[in-house]
Amino acid sequence: MFIAVQISWLILLGIAELGAARWGRAVPRGARTARNLTFTVINHVAIPPLTVLCLAAAQVVHPPVGINRLPMWTGMILAVLAFDLAGYWFHRVSHRSLLLWRFHQVHHLDEDFDFTTGARVHTVEESLHQILLVAVAIVIGAPPLYLTVFGTLAFVAALWHHSNLAVPQRIERWLRLVVFTPETHVAHHHDQIEDTDTNFGFLFPWWDRMFGTFNRRQRTSDWRIGLDYSRDLGLIGLLLVPFHPRQLKELALRPATDAGPRSAQTAKSVTR
Ligand SMILES: [Zn+2]
Repeated sequence: MFIAVQISWLILLGIAELGAARWGRAVPRGARTARNLTFTVINHVAIPPLTVLCLAAAQVVHPPVGINRLPMWTGMILAVLAFDLAGYWFHRVSHRSLLLWRFHQVHHLDEDFDFTTGARVHTVEESLHQILLVAVAIVIGAPPLYLTVFGTLAFVAALWHHSNLAVPQRIERWLRLVVFTPETHVAHHHDQIEDTDTNFGFLFPWWDRMFGTFNRRQRTSDWRIGLDYSRDLGLIGLLLVPFHPRQLKELALRPATDAGPRSAQTAKSVTR
């Protein structure tokens, strides 16, 4: 059932974007869409067995005690909040750790912003994130079902807040109080470091507000989506670039002169 929800949502957003796109395309569909969706296919094959394995191994030594004693809806809401908070910090640390950034930059190298961007996450990053969530589930005593529910919600939310949908302003203003919207998340994909390092949340914008990383800046037509130090890569390049001995930034695949006015940011963002 959960996989059916995810596939249906993906198809629905794809159709909705065709009819109600907010911004013109920066990159043609075709190869880019296929590349992005390949990541989600790989992840949907790789992550469930990993989760089962981790849960089985962990429950042998520490059977869940805690949230599973609460009424189901109360427990599930608390678990979703805990998983989302853990995801916020995992994402935030991924922007600071040179090792984690190697994998996370694959998501940020996308030079356009639509629902397929949300599906584009390197499998190693997705695996590490999932292992963290399993660890949280063990600590709070959340049963595997809560993890599956959160996984589905997070997938639905990721496709939604990366979508290129024209959401009416009066609806968007209310929605952004409760969930991340495309209007708020797009700043995270602006190639300017001061915007990229904001709006880390998955489901709820509350953690960003609480920890001072919420960014209200609105996208303008001159924004470039992506990273200031490299153009996007092909599928094989994206899969392998995290394992290159040198950081992608050092390889300088996109000459600074091609970076235009944003090249000044390169020196600043080298802290990653
Ligand atoms: Zn990010």
